[in-house]
Amino acid sequence: MISHPFAYRSPETVAEAVDLVSAAPDRTRVLGGGTWVVPECNRGESSPDVLVDLRRAGLDRIELVDDVVHVGATSTYAALMSSSIVDRHLPMLAAMARGITGGGQLQSQGTIGGSVVAARPQSDAPAVVAVLGATLLLAGPQGERRVSGEAMFEGASRSGVRPDEILTRLEIPVQGAARWGYYKLKRSASSWPIATAACLVHRDGSGSVTDARLVLGGVSGTPVHVNINSVLVGDGVGPDRVDEAARLAAASVHSPWDDELAPGSYRLAVTHPVARRSLAMALPQEDA
Ligand SMILES: Cc1cc2nc3c(=O)[nH]c(=O)nc-3n(C[C@H](O)[C@H](O)[C@H](O)COP(=O)(O)OP(=O)(O)OC[C@H]3O[C@@H](n4cnc5c(N)ncnc54)[C@H](O)[C@@H]3O)c2cc1C
Repeated sequence: MISHPFAYRSPETVAEAVDLVSAAPDRTRVLGGGTWVVPECNRGESSPDVLVDLRRAGLDRIELVDDVVHVGATSTYAALMSSSIVDRHLPMLAAMARGITGGGQLQSQGTIGGSVVAARPQSDAPAVVAVLGATLLLAGPQGERRVSGEAMFEGASRSGVRPDEILTRLEIPVQGAARWGYYKLKRSASSWPIATAACLVHRDGSGSVTDARLVLGGVSGTPVHVNINSVLVGDGVGPDRVDEAARLAAASVHSPWDDELAPGSYRLAVTHPVARRSLAMALPQEDA
């Protein structure tokens, strides 16, 4: 239970929400699904004067617009799992949502926007959003601005969303024919990820790899982008090059994340196999 007194607001438009948040950014918390904010308030770690609940602000639509999927910030994991647009055009995002722990209640309440703004190193969403090339739309008192998913994560639990702004939606280009892999290492079925790897591989008509992207999650304070194009672009990709790309991933982790789930040394040690499994999902023949 939240024991301190607070005002609850439930705006019906983004403009109204921005007005509420920007009136007193330091004393206001935005609620997406509240799965993170409410426990923090219950524990007394946060005691905002105002809670601004976005669930009636019309930010839960998922639409396809010219080969770009618009995912409203308050779309829940359950909505991502049941959307035919996400299933068809962003299967990696759907798979990520299916793998979120916490059961049906968490999946029906937790939002993609809340996970992105919270920017926790151990969360699934940041690396997936980054590898998919998402652009984030932010609304604030000065109007709207766009930030790339790559530039979004500034530090552990620190996204580029300012206290007087609201994340309204993610714009994610369709995956098209790109093959993908998403692998996460967890302690148990119900625990948060220790390390994740998300990759996308594009090929031309002859099967040559034209673009390959890999982003690691959980292993550092922010998602780690690995330049695997230098190893995988071209034809003749085989197990050796897949392994080399995974080794490159392990070498790209410079400040391993350390927490109660696992020490940094463990995360460093598992990065290679986690990256390799993700790459093997996207390149099954080449890895055989
Ligand atoms: C039991 C349990 C299991 C979990 N398992 C996993 C897991 O396996 N993988 C994983 O990645 N996560 C996991 N989580 C975390 C969960 O996924 C996140 O808490 C959830 O996605 C956050 O979304 P939310 O909408 O509930 O966030 P909220 O609690 O509503 O908000 C989180 C933060 O973002 C801000 N915020 C929210 N929406 C917006 C917005 N649109 N604009 C601006 N600011 C905003 C809030 O003010 C707050 O600071 C778990 C949580 C629990 C409780």
